[in-house]
Amino acid sequence: AKEASGPHLQFFNAGLQRRFAHQQALLSALRKAITEEALQVYYQPQYERVSGSNQITCMGYEALVRWHDDELGWISPGEFIPLAESEGLMRSVHKLVVKKVLADTPTLQTLNPEKPVRVAINVSASQFKHSKFVDDMNQQMKVAGVSGSAIELEITESLLIDDIEQTAKTMHELKESGITFALDDFGTGYASLGYLKELPLNRLKIDQSFVQDLTQDSNATAIVQTILALGRSLEIEVIAEGIETDEQLATLEKLGCSQFQGYYFSRPEPLHALRNAKETT
Ligand code: C2E
Ligand code: CA
Ligand code: CA
Ligand code: CA
Repeated sequence: AKEASGPHLQFFNAGLQRRFAHQQALLSALRKAITEEALQVYYQPQYERVSGSNQITCMGYEALVRWHDDELGWISPGEFIPLAESEGLMRSVHKLVVKKVLADTPTLQTLNPEKPVRVAINVSASQFKHSKFVDDMNQQMKVAGVSGSAIELEITESLLIDDIEQTAKTMHELKESGITFALDDFGTGYASLGYLKELPLNRLKIDQSFVQDLTQDSNATAIVQTILALGRSLEIEVIAEGIETDEQLATLEKLGCSQFQGYYFSRPEPLHALRNAKETT
């Protein structure tokens, strides 16, 4: 039996070893990218139907971190964010993203001068719970000379599960600086809906999985309808993300949704590629 498992075990070890070596290479490249401030930020426009008009206009942007390494190529946030989390690098990643967003905010404002600019930044739960989170944000905004009203933070339902009191306290502190909040991936977590009205939430983001299933799955339709009704009764705005087709857009509009984000409108782009986006549909 020992002989029989030999080659198998060896293969397994070689696979593990390769994975380990890859993770180590990724980690040291990530540390370097952070130190050199080489992580980039792309922006995906968010749109709004002005009621009764045939125009859909840009109402803000979501900042999404991007990483390109000369040897490793493009590495998706889905791959390096969990690594940054497990290696304690998330605070640095977050601060770097915030720094770049704040530096880009005046340019984003000039793309759409009629409206005060708003940029949404994703915040992981571990970051949001960090004791220095509020101080870091306020300090960075002060240094950059950008008001909190230009910033929306996208948080997830996991923050509403374990320590709701602390989460609410942190949100209210940040709200004093003018920062607003969106609840990301809404509908995929297990937050008790009762908490929603206790929190200073501006926006619910309907998770893209529901949008993608919308045209072939009646469950998804029911969930989207429920989220829109919830938003109306709590007076919280609702945005649908991950819209890829005109059919999805039409269905969402029929259900009463008026805020949109997705490849159908625009992919996340580097700052220089963005233009004053106005669509007529
Ligand atoms: P998320 O916050 O839910 O972001 C939406 C993701 O969907 C983004 O992927 C975006 O590029 C993608 N997306 C946008 N429109 C469409 C569409 O029409 N169809 C499809 N299939 N996808 C679409 P991305 O940029 O790869 O980011 C993945 C996740 O990584 C984000 O999910 C977020 O959880 C996290 N992330 C990204 N940037 C940051 C950051 O700066 N900080 C933190 N903490 N997390 C980030
Ligand atoms: Ca997000
Ligand atoms: Ca999302
Ligand atoms: Ca997501």
